[in-house]
Amino acid sequence: MAILVTGGAGYIGSHTCVELIQAGYDIVVVDNLCNSHKEAIHRVSELTNQSFTTYHIDLMDRELLELVFAKHDIEAVIHFAGLKAVGESVERPMKYYRQNLYSTIVLCEVMEKFGVYQLIFSSSATVYGIPKQMPIDEDAPLGAINPYGRTKQMIEQMLQDLAHANPHWRISLLRYFNPVGAHESGRIGEDPGGVPNNLLPFIAQVAIGRRKEVAVFGNDYDTIDGTGVRDYIHVVDLALGHLKALSKLSESSNLQVYNLGTGRGYSVLEMIAAYEKASGRKIPYRIASRRPGDIGLCYANTAKANAELGWRTERGIDEMCRDSWRWQSMNPNGYKQEEVFAEQV
Ligand code: NAD
Ligand code: UDP
Repeated sequence: MAILVTGGAGYIGSHTCVELIQAGYDIVVVDNLCNSHKEAIHRVSELTNQSFTTYHIDLMDRELLELVFAKHDIEAVIHFAGLKAVGESVERPMKYYRQNLYSTIVLCEVMEKFGVYQLIFSSSATVYGIPKQMPIDEDAPLGAINPYGRTKQMIEQMLQDLAHANPHWRISLLRYFNPVGAHESGRIGEDPGGVPNNLLPFIAQVAIGRRKEVAVFGNDYDTIDGTGVRDYIHVVDLALGHLKALSKLSESSNLQVYNLGTGRGYSVLEMIAAYEKASGRKIPYRIASRRPGDIGLCYANTAKANAELGWRTERGIDEMCRDSWRWQSMNPNGYKQEEVFAEQV
């Protein structure tokens, strides 16, 4: 029996593959490499000393996906594959609706055809939109404010309808807060294409000298120092949350929703200071205007995941920055070692 990991070459997927293999699971990966590199898969294999089959196919290709299900005895699917850039989703909404929704529809239909009913889905805190209360718990109203977030909210709704219609399904919707950091080996990590949208990869690229300074998007929020506060979670803790969710799938009711965060928020300036400490480098920054669509404060109530999954994060801000820095300094150009290193913007 194997776990099918869609998007297993990606940032969170690759870290989850390592933890799955180390916990004794057999895995099969499907990834079209639209936002990742084969090298990530090689390194998962090298880190775990284990080989596994990876299919470089698009989930929307039903025929090929059916071949994967026909060839392997799959017991559950962890579904990471999807597009995730908020800005691009605003510019090209149909690309996001088509790819994120349709790939999930094909996946679920193929799963039903092959009698595989256990599914873990990568959702996001973005489905909460502009939250009214902090910390955010799973019952908070949803209201995603961009096309990317709306694809997550729609897929959640779709999966709820599916679970309601067919009691065989066991589905876990995991709402991630802000995944950061890297595997402690420094061999796998986050490798954003182009200019990073997210704070931590941007800070990392400033620390390594690829970018000049961090633009801090606003210092007039109602937070401890005026800069935006987020619930950063170490990607390995997040990966381990999937293993817990997997082991609880068959025990729970047929659809569950969990926040995966630490329950603690840090400001942009706190993250910069922590990264300076971890890297021993100065991180220049300037205060810029607020980024449109940003909220000031966002952190999770993790009580439900703690109690029901028996899961708790173990890595704090220092480990997040330390492991991000190790990955960044060992792989200054991510997985593409051959690229020109110096790129000041
Ligand atoms: P990622 O882009 O690194 O990984 C996604 C992987 O899916 C990539 O390897 C990509 O090539 C693959 N993929 C995309 N569409 C595909 C398709 N149609 N067929 C096959 N493969 C496909 O992203 P990530 O950061 O690892 O995120 C994983 C999941 O978690 C995504 O669904 C994302 O929306 C969600 N999520 C991420 C974050 C975050 O900050 N990283 C936060 C909340 C939720
Ligand atoms: N941020 C920033 N400069 C950047 C990128 C992000 O000041 O170059 C801020 C952003 O306004 C937010 C926090 O850092 O307050 C986290 O942003 P990120 O995009 O990583 O996560 P999200 O906003 O999607 O939760």
